[in-house]
Amino acid sequence: MSFETIPRDLKHLRACLLCSLVKTLEQFELEGCDNCHEVLQMKGNKDMVYDCTSSSFDGVISMMSPEDSWVGKWQRLGSSKPGVYAVSVTGRLPQGIVRELSSRRVVYKSRDTSSKT
Ligand SMILES: [Zn+2]
Repeated sequence: MSFETIPRDLKHLRACLLCSLVKTLEQFELEGCDNCHEVLQMKGNKDMVYDCTSSSFDGVISMMSPEDSWVGKWQRLGSSKPGVYAVSVTGRLPQGIVRELSSRRVVYKSRDTSSKT
């Protein structure tokens, strides 16, 4: 099992707006998002990291085997990598990125469950 997805420290934690993976700002910048690297090129691109992740999120779940976990299914993480995930991520991906995603047939659904809007 790989533990590369586990946050290395508890400062500067951010959650991916697309899959809700929680890592440090530095990890996102160095490695990108483990689930979204094909659609969100965050690796080595700090601006993209700021656009595609949020420092405001609620609740964290550790997912060791997302494919066998009902929590994983409920959080729509069935095909995601093991790691630490936020229950709710505040914020939205920028319009331009959402458009880019839909052109790649990736459906973006907000991870923000803190409000009904
Ligand atoms: Zn992601």
